[in-house]
Amino acid sequence: MSDPGKRHIYPIFGDILGRAEKEDLLEQKGGVFWLTGLSGSGKSTIAAAVERQLHQRGYFVKLLDGDNIRFGINADLGFSPEDRVENIRRVAEVAKLFAQTGIIVLSSFISPTKAIREMAVKIIGQEDFHEIFVDTPLEICEQRDVKGLYQKARAGLIPDFTGIHQPFESPEKPALALKTADKTVDESAEELVRYILSLQPDSKDN
Ligand code: ADP
Repeated sequence: MSDPGKRHIYPIFGDILGRAEKEDLLEQKGGVFWLTGLSGSGKSTIAAAVERQLHQRGYFVKLLDGDNIRFGINADLGFSPEDRVENIRRVAEVAKLFAQTGIIVLSSFISPTKAIREMAVKIIGQEDFHEIFVDTPLEICEQRDVKGLYQKARAGLIPDFTGIHQPFESPEKPALALKTADKTVDESAEELVRYILSLQPDSKDN
């Protein structure tokens, strides 16, 4: 029931369930685990593996990546500098909504500059934002060339490719840095799972 003594723009304000109720229901703490790194560094692979592992342990997780964002809410955006900023701004706003609903969000976007990541921190809030640096050297990403993008970029078919034409500004103090070069996918995923679980309440299996 809303408190008749309190005046809000939205009359149902007092009736809307808050974050604490959602987190109690889910028995977990929401937050955004913001994976940043070069194309091919391993963001999507690690995020998918972490999502599966946490799900199996009973956690409610949402993965945000180019596939479900660029073709949906951001289908109108291209790759100009302004559109890249708007892309991340919307991702951050969506991630915030999920986190405030108690959901563990894994976001997988190159987000190459400090400025763009700072914008995400500002939107999401320092408390809920965990910067995860998927720290893979350019040479390795280029060797992997999962989507053939480096070859195309080197051939001049993709302009402004991060790592080739545009710099990737490494995070200075990430919450966690995953050095994937000599690790298996499972090992890298396990490192992130451990970090996420360390922030969770004790009510589940950890
Ligand atoms: P991104 O999402 O950062 O563009 P992807 O996840 O699409 O990168 O590609 C990373 C590639 O690197 C995959 O083919 C994956 O199997 C491989 N890989 C090798 N070792 C690792 C590791 N330790 N962690 C993540 N990916 C790895």
